[in-house]
Amino acid sequence: MSVENVETLVIGGGQAGIAMSEHLGALALPHLVVERNRIAERWRSERWDSLVANGPAWHDRFPNKQFERTGPDGFAPAREIVDYLEGYAAQVKAPLRTGVEVKALRKHGDLFIAETSLGQIEAKNIVAATGPFQRPLIPTVVPETAGLMQLHSAHYRNPAQLPEGAVMVIGAGSSGVQIADELRKGGRQVYLSVGPHDRPPRRYRGKDFVWWLGVLGMWNAEAIEPAMAHVTIAVSGADGGHTVDFRRLAADGITLVGRTGAYENGALHFASDLAKNIALGDANYLNMLDAADAYAAREGLDLPEEPEARRMEPDPDCVTNPLLRLDLKQAGVSSIIWATGYALDFGWMQFDIFDQQGNPRHHRGISEVPGLYFLGLPWLSRRASAFIWGVWHDAKYLAEHIAARRP
Ligand SMILES: Cc1cc2nc3c(=O)[nH]c(=O)nc-3n(C[C@H](O)[C@H](O)[C@H](O)COP(=O)(O)OP(=O)(O)OC[C@H]3O[C@@H](n4cnc5c(N)ncnc54)[C@H](O)[C@@H]3O)c2cc1C
Repeated sequence: MSVENVETLVIGGGQAGIAMSEHLGALALPHLVVERNRIAERWRSERWDSLVANGPAWHDRFPNKQFERTGPDGFAPAREIVDYLEGYAAQVKAPLRTGVEVKALRKHGDLFIAETSLGQIEAKNIVAATGPFQRPLIPTVVPETAGLMQLHSAHYRNPAQLPEGAVMVIGAGSSGVQIADELRKGGRQVYLSVGPHDRPPRRYRGKDFVWWLGVLGMWNAEAIEPAMAHVTIAVSGADGGHTVDFRRLAADGITLVGRTGAYENGALHFASDLAKNIALGDANYLNMLDAADAYAAREGLDLPEEPEARRMEPDPDCVTNPLLRLDLKQAGVSSIIWATGYALDFGWMQFDIFDQQGNPRHHRGISEVPGLYFLGLPWLSRRASAFIWGVWHDAKYLAEHIAARRP
């Protein structure tokens, strides 16, 4: 096994690692990017087949490259995102090596030692760009002995993958609602467990919500309270993009239930919080409309009024008389999809800088260990940090910090 020496080792070949390489390259800082699988691997093997970007192509991209197949107002499919990131890595001439996994990282004097699947790499700086969503989380609720197919949204591909029968989808963020809707359209009976969530309007007064988040300064919001970072957002770019409307999902045939609780004797129990969760989501939606209207008035913007956006259908029966218990066998449920989020997994790093949840202590990605950086984590510096264009700005900041530390 060889020992290699680089100034900066970037770990991870997704959007974060590629953006980091662009900025290090622009400052002529020697570096190497290693990726354990292929460029943009998560978009190849950890997303469902029909997934499209959550934001329109004019927005969800790096500043220096447009999407080629999807127009600016369209939503790029996962396959095009892979091509885009591969093309971008080539455009910025990223020194990127695929098929190299960092298995352990430690520090010896001033040098980091990365034990990789292809030998040791020594580096003065490390940028961990291994993703905001690393380890799928499935709560231990339903035992394997229940005889159901259970999978995380990261491993869902399409309806044909599931056995015949009804499906229980748990979690109503962007993944859960889109998967539930796809299964319903595929002829499945679907139960959707809805917890607290934000649900911004997809478009309002002719502008996409990502535009509104920008002008309202919300992309730049810093995570002040830890809980803020974890609010699930239900938003979809599917079918040209539409506002997630739980009443519409219910009218189309999906049975909404509250937060999933315990599993007992073949039945799942749900909290009686469904109406409250829907109402809080509505309040978040209406707040956004209010903030947008106030901004348009203040700035004198000539945007078409849209009073119908405030009209809500009455609550459906499944919300007013919610199911609190579902016997899965009786309901014909054969599979459960857990759209319950992810945890970080930095078990390969031997540094005492992690809290009990496994989150590293850092300031804007600069850790307590000199030369060790994190990039692409949710709320690393602000709301935009885990998104493609937000990570680009964070990467620039870290590259400048690395440059400033040089002797
Ligand atoms: C369902 C879903 C939809 C999303 N949609 C959008 C969207 O539309 N727009 C948007 O801006 N964001 C979206 N995101 C958020 C974010 O953009 C993606 O999660 C994106 O993949 C993050 O890129 P990244 O480079 O930070 O991390 P990742 O894509 O996770 O890349 C990290 C890379 O590191 C590699 N790696 C990990 N550990 C090691 C190791 N030890 N050694 C070597 N390599 C390693 C992995 O193989 C991986 O390729 C979405 C997220 C999800 C889950």
